[in-house]
Amino acid sequence: VAKGEGKNCWRFFTPSMLQATRERRTVISDFTLALKRQEFEVYYQPILGYGRPDELKAEALLRWKHPQKGMISPAVFIPLAEEVGLIHALGDWCLKRVLQDQQKWQAEGLPCPVIAINTSAKQFTHDDVARKWLQALRDSGASSDQLVMEITESLLLQRQTEVLSQLRTLREAGIRIALDDFGTGYSSLSYLSAFELDYLKIDRSFVQGIVQNSKDEAVTDAIIAMAHKLGLEVVAEGVETLEQEEVLRRQHCDFAQGYYYARPMPEAQYREFIQKQVKVYSSQ
Ligand code: C2E
Ligand code: MG
Ligand code: MG
Ligand code: MG
Repeated sequence: VAKGEGKNCWRFFTPSMLQATRERRTVISDFTLALKRQEFEVYYQPILGYGRPDELKAEALLRWKHPQKGMISPAVFIPLAEEVGLIHALGDWCLKRVLQDQQKWQAEGLPCPVIAINTSAKQFTHDDVARKWLQALRDSGASSDQLVMEITESLLLQRQTEVLSQLRTLREAGIRIALDDFGTGYSSLSYLSAFELDYLKIDRSFVQGIVQNSKDEAVTDAIIAMAHKLGLEVVAEGVETLEQEEVLRRQHCDFAQGYYYARPMPEAQYREFIQKQVKVYSSQ
């Protein structure tokens, strides 16, 4: 995949590269074996608290290291996993890995960061993801406030009682819920009051323009103010520059994540990140 870009350059295998049907079939059959072959890995991207810089949070992001094709983007394999029904096994695996990593960090005497895990709507409608999360917490002895579940607007749109009751179960157990990619879907405002949520994540597409485009700035400003009135905290996605941070701080955004702070990184590197954070705040 990384042809012509030098040996050490990992490039993502992207959705457009998957259009050829033969390519697609190969990837699907490889995918079914990939879990067994342990080709998946959880990366962590730090989430910074503007008001509480000592709080540790991160988002878990799946990576597939294909032995021939290199790194395959989750934008490619998550839709595939949903289509072929492997999203359940993949979701279970990711949750367990995160809980294991958290245990490992604690065993090393590090504070335990709160980790946000993405879930797809299929995990709610074809499975009982709430029951699975609670079982996994019990099995690992972890505390429910160590986890945040990220859901998307498409899940809430369905307004199924089944989905509602699972979300309620999770929240009653102390797991916080974040609405991901806010602003990219139907952005119906009615579900913001109809569902009990904890965080709103403003999609990167809005954050991108907030410095140059006064309309984008107005949109994020309004989203943040509205979220706060509803008792939600706001996470800005895809912050890439100091100028964007300045706008977001001015608008009282609560948390931010993006390349400006750190890219998603393997567990070993994230552990070093935690260690550095701990040093900074214990010396103050
Ligand atoms: P997402 O949940 O919205 O995750 C944020 C995406 O934005 C990640 O892409 C992250 O690497 C990227 N990102 C973060 N900061 C920046 C930035 O400053 N600039 C730019 N250009 N991008 C930034 P990634 O890792 O490729 O993941 C893509 C999507 O795949 C995720 O979007 C999520 O919807 C899905 N995904 C990833 N892991 C999982 C998983 O375990 N389960 C499910 N169901 N979906 C997952
Ligand atoms: Mg997410
Ligand atoms: Mg997102
Ligand atoms: Mg996004």
